[in-house]
Amino acid sequence: MQSESDRLRREGKRIAVVPTMGALHRGHTSLIELARKHADVVVTTIFVNPTQFGPTEDLARYPRDLDRDTTLAQAAGTDILFTPSASGMYPEGFKTFVSVEEITSVFEGEIRPTHFRGVTTVVAKLFNIVKPHVGVFGQKDIQQVHVIRRMTRDLDFGVELVVGPTVREADGLALSSRNAYLTPEERSRATALYRSLRGVAELVQAGERSVGTLRDRAESILHASHPTRVDYVAFLDPETFRPVESIATPGILVALAVRYGTTRLIDNEFITI
Ligand code: AMP
Repeated sequence: MQSESDRLRREGKRIAVVPTMGALHRGHTSLIELARKHADVVVTTIFVNPTQFGPTEDLARYPRDLDRDTTLAQAAGTDILFTPSASGMYPEGFKTFVSVEEITSVFEGEIRPTHFRGVTTVVAKLFNIVKPHVGVFGQKDIQQVHVIRRMTRDLDFGVELVVGPTVREADGLALSSRNAYLTPEERSRATALYRSLRGVAELVQAGERSVGTLRDRAESILHASHPTRVDYVAFLDPETFRPVESIATPGILVALAVRYGTTRLIDNEFITI
């Protein structure tokens, strides 16, 4: 992959990378289509990265179907599909990790303490292997975007980040490989994530600026869906990713993590004022 990227760069080609863990859906293919608009060559990577899963998480049962993924990735405009093995990425003796501080220990990082270290390590490796000009990531994982942006700036990767909007089902549920774990009954309750984001947006549009009031609205919609647990409802500055108490221009980022049974779902929306 490195020598192919060197060759493409010598030809003056602009390379985009779309990192994924496979089990591709329309969210992933929308990112591949977006990558096409920003580059001459689109490299989609499929790698279920063991270092970003915690010891009790779903690494073993994470869905894998390379034949189906290959068809979908090609149809969406992938030129090169890069599918390394775990032993290729982490051979015996591997000892180096990339770790971004502070932002990785809150929200997703508080609940999944080693998650972002695995993400930044694998993305750093993929950037060094694929040597892209552009990296394309989904708004769906907004904290991941902030962490990767921090790493890219701090370590001078020289990769431009492009963020694609969250693709949703008709009822608002954000597409996720993990939706497949939901029972039909949990699946219908899970629409509460998007309904609570919309509920907050409606209040903001009606002039509400107090985060306490907005939180009450979000939590009451979530709790009415009888979640197993609400991990967090965060009201954040969209630039710094820090919690805020009131809303200012240009708007507020609302991020949620909720469990139904053993399935943990996340969603977020940027709400302008
Ligand atoms: P994953 O395979 O879950 O690691 O996700 C690979 C990329 O797809 C990440 O940049 C995600 O943010 C992005 N992604 C996942 N779900 C969606 C979605 N529903 N809409 C847009 N992008 C998504």
